[in-house]
Amino acid sequence: MSGTDSSGVKKTVWMERDDLLSQSPSYPQLTQDTKTDVLVVGGGIAGLHITYELLNSGMKKVILVEDGKIGSGETGRTTGHLSADNEYNEFMGLHGAEGTAQIAAAQQAAIERIASIVDKHQIDCDFVRVPGYMFHGLPTSSSEFRVDTLEELYEAAEKTGKLDVSIVNDAFIKGFKSGPAVKFGNQATFHPTKYIQALAKVISDMGGEIYEKTRYMKHSEENGRVTASLENEKKIQAESLVMATNVPLQKVSL
Ligand SMILES: Cc1cc2nc3c(=O)[nH]c(=O)nc-3n(C[C@H](O)[C@H](O)[C@H](O)COP(=O)(O)OP(=O)(O)OC[C@H]3O[C@@H](n4cnc5c(N)ncnc54)[C@H](O)[C@@H]3O)c2cc1C
Repeated sequence: MSGTDSSGVKKTVWMERDDLLSQSPSYPQLTQDTKTDVLVVGGGIAGLHITYELLNSGMKKVILVEDGKIGSGETGRTTGHLSADNEYNEFMGLHGAEGTAQIAAAQQAAIERIASIVDKHQIDCDFVRVPGYMFHGLPTSSSEFRVDTLEELYEAAEKTGKLDVSIVNDAFIKGFKSGPAVKFGNQATFHPTKYIQALAKVISDMGGEIYEKTRYMKHSEENGRVTASLENEKKIQAESLVMATNVPLQKVSL
């Protein structure tokens, strides 16, 4: 997919309506060898956030390379729910009470972190606080809704002590009767590509270097340093490398 704007064939409403790919600011391709403290590969929400946090914590030089355009991967395809609603009843069996509480805390903290970044940098991305609901939706018979796993979910979520949860009779979705639902307070939604583009601009203003249409191919390690090779045969030497490509590239052939 090198040289193309997006790693997917279809475009989402975020990309189409707001013309993400043609209207967003363009960042240059890296066309020379360079050195950096940290090299971040992947310009989705993970790579952008890592780059932002590194710069925010005082890291001097951070380079981010993206093989398409910023936000053109899965981040441009999300439905934009910033939610900590999850299957905590299943997590309890998998990770125990402490592990489940850590997951809940991390998910809610991520929402609060995005909220604080939006506020600090006055990012115009339609960020709005909304509750999240989990429900079965379809009744098992004409009038009865399933509630069994909802109660388990509520109890597990409540037990984490990290979430604002309650059971309600309906999620109040216009034109749709959900039946009983677990309600998660303090969730949010936003416009993902507006957010990601604005965050890229903040990173640029903070001195971070962003390169688009710049494809990482492989890297080698020597004396604790990393040398990454790009598709155009340029090289980036880095103290550290962060892979934020969503799909682990070490496991696929490029
Ligand atoms: C339909 C749908 C709905 C979703 N809804 C939600 C939701 O409501 N809430 C939620 O939290 N999550 C949701 N998700 C999941 C969420 O979108 C992803 O978890 C998130 O966007 C992943 O971000 P990322 O930065 O890890 O990956 P990506 O956004 O995919 O970023 C990785 C980037 O790496 C780049 N890259 C790949 N290989 C290379 C290379 N060799 N060199 C340079 N760059 C490279 C890609 O081009 C890409 O831009 C949804 C996903 C989908 C598909």
